[in-house]
Amino acid sequence: MSPLHTYPLEAWCIRETSFDTASHFLDETLFALGNGYIGLRGTHEEGYSGPAGTSLDGTYLNGFYESEPIQYPEAAYGLAKTNQFMLNVPNAKGIELWLEDERFDLLQGSLQSYERVLDFRTGLLTRTLEWTSPQGRRIALRSRRMVCFENKHLFALEYQVTPLNFEGRLKLVSVLNGAVKNLEAGDDPRVGSAVSGQSLHMVDHEQNVGFAALLQRTHNSGFLLLSATDTELDGAAATLAIARTEQRLTQTFEMQAKSGQAVTLTKYGSYVSSRDYPESELMWRTKDTLGRAREAGFEALRMAQEQYLADFWQQADVQIAGDDALQQGIHFNQFHLLQSVGRDGQTNISAKGVTGEGYEGHYFWDTEIYIFPFFLYSKPEIARKLLEYRYAGLPLARQRARQMSHAIGALYPWRTIAGEECSAYFPAGTAQYHINADIAYSIKLYMEATGDDEYLLKHGAEIVMETARIWMGIGSYDREGRFCINQVTGPDEYTALVNNNYYTNAMAQMHLNFAASIAERLAQEYPAEFERISGLAALDANEPAAWRRAASLMHLPYDDALQIHAQDDSFLSKKVWDFANTPKENYPLLLNYHPMVIYRHQVCKQADVVLALLLLSDQFTLEDKRRDFDYYEAVTTHDSSLSSCIFSIIAAEVGYHDKAYDYFMETARLDLDDTHGNTHYGVHTAAMAGTWMGVAYGFAGMRVVNGELHFAPMVPKQWQHYTFKIHFQGTLLEVHVEPGRVDYRLLQGEVLDFSHRGEALALTLSAPSQSRAI
Ligand code: BGC
Repeated sequence: MSPLHTYPLEAWCIRETSFDTASHFLDETLFALGNGYIGLRGTHEEGYSGPAGTSLDGTYLNGFYESEPIQYPEAAYGLAKTNQFMLNVPNAKGIELWLEDERFDLLQGSLQSYERVLDFRTGLLTRTLEWTSPQGRRIALRSRRMVCFENKHLFALEYQVTPLNFEGRLKLVSVLNGAVKNLEAGDDPRVGSAVSGQSLHMVDHEQNVGFAALLQRTHNSGFLLLSATDTELDGAAATLAIARTEQRLTQTFEMQAKSGQAVTLTKYGSYVSSRDYPESELMWRTKDTLGRAREAGFEALRMAQEQYLADFWQQADVQIAGDDALQQGIHFNQFHLLQSVGRDGQTNISAKGVTGEGYEGHYFWDTEIYIFPFFLYSKPEIARKLLEYRYAGLPLARQRARQMSHAIGALYPWRTIAGEECSAYFPAGTAQYHINADIAYSIKLYMEATGDDEYLLKHGAEIVMETARIWMGIGSYDREGRFCINQVTGPDEYTALVNNNYYTNAMAQMHLNFAASIAERLAQEYPAEFERISGLAALDANEPAAWRRAASLMHLPYDDALQIHAQDDSFLSKKVWDFANTPKENYPLLLNYHPMVIYRHQVCKQADVVLALLLLSDQFTLEDKRRDFDYYEAVTTHDSSLSSCIFSIIAAEVGYHDKAYDYFMETARLDLDDTHGNTHYGVHTAAMAGTWMGVAYGFAGMRVVNGELHFAPMVPKQWQHYTFKIHFQGTLLEVHVEPGRVDYRLLQGEVLDFSHRGEALALTLSAPSQSRAI
């Protein structure tokens, strides 16, 4: 699909140079701001007067949700009972601008100039324009906003108006609007909740001079939310009137405007809820947040924002020379990942971040398998927070395991916000038991990269062992003595409820071995701690040996005739989907065919076996990888945005350089170019992180095998060079690759051993760089 809107190709920003109603909905997502908690869609302060259904003025709080019973016309035991969905919360950024009795509206009058920039280095969204009202009044307008990384509860905006050709009455109305709703479910299962109407109901309000607050409660989840704004006016003497209609609080500043004289309204917004604090603390916390913000002022907040981002980019920046579109795409993705990720240990990163309502703000395996590596190697402290979130969910995972008839162990939900299973369609939800192995895998990556035993003892060991037990519960030995795992769904959601999904079995094998090795090591090295952890899980002394045995006898389906790994026991005997006669408009298939029609065929929505080739890289030969890639590429639609990046990485490894590049490009600008046609409902965070993996794992050939870091770099012919950094075992390594050569440089830490195409290299303080021909 061709992009709706083409932004100039700039490395550090996206810039909109005209106001375009056709791309408006999409732009609301692309220009969204967030700090891992608050998310403000890129809607305009004044709202949007275009047709219904072409805008979504959403404000979201990561992890703040309403719950609703899931209605099944035909119930069954153990189905997920309650859905949780991220709420659209009061819109606090609203500002109305009146020139005499004419209201500023982007769709009325005429625009002489318009520009909007989202800057990845400052974190500011800046809009500048000149507008003439239908009656001929001309103004210059500049608005700037940020959602503060240093204070999760705060955002700030500055709104400056300069009359250009008139004197007269000018009114600025600051609005806090609590009458907001979520999208309702339509035909697309990926969007909307089952709830119609408003989920937050009014409890109280407060409106002092310059301070407006709405207190609301969710119906079912029972949370109390205090949304508040504080305003300041500069540049003219104004009268202030405050008013309330229903759930809408306004503060109206009225003044006599002078031509050429700027008036500036600064607005601070805060959200504090009982999900984080006792109800009695919400008001003082709000006052404190707003009071400090006002005292600091917009400029100081702006500088703090820039400082936070400077530190982020210093560690995380991926530079690509020779392809401006790509450089922009990568920075955009990295910036949005940072904006989306919860950093408090109580929240995670949802499939759409805090930019839209697609997938209802749920967290999936996307976190562990796609997003985690980016943070682990770029900002390890954030990766640790993501792991903490899973530990907080362990008690609920234990409960869920009991519901699913597992007497011991813990089963994580396929999709959730607060830890309960929320997948209403179990064949492509709960059946994806691989979530347990995915979480264990991320803990393994974390341990290999950090050697953080304190984490292992505190949280990691307990999670890995508890979740490993589930494989013993759902698996069994067949007559040939193979350990089989039946009735599960792998990553490919176009194939459901199968026996011995390759990915699941191979990841379960890794998981069981990892759990056993933790048990063995802790028993040796930390006996007292091991006893404590075993006590928490009532671990039997014989269990680790049983895990080892199941792992060694794991059935990993392989087809001798085709010499490929079979996606599951039955996949290769199904009929291949008739791709030649499937019209383009029938993709994604999930919107056009009954699930069973799809399940009956050899057709993949996304990487499945091919993903195993990456995650368990050392278990396959290059020939294996090439054959598997060839086979599965031919039957994969990439209807999931999680697919192309994985195909790019394996294509790079097996030497299909053009394909590697093409798949990579599909991922790198997936949201910017709206190639999946649904970015208006939110960005695709897993694919965004997949871009990072495409550079590090794909083109630079990075793998961590048995705790050792390996590289095998190449450069796509379209690029001049590329550079990225990796935190590994207390060091910071810079990898710079250009045609014919790679430079490895130790930026922090004392010594790093790693391998370059099988050759052992060491960087030390006295010899911090090494170069090799490639
Ligand atoms: C994919 C899943 C993914 C989910 C959320 C689905 O379309 O098939 O693998 O977890 O989207 O991103």
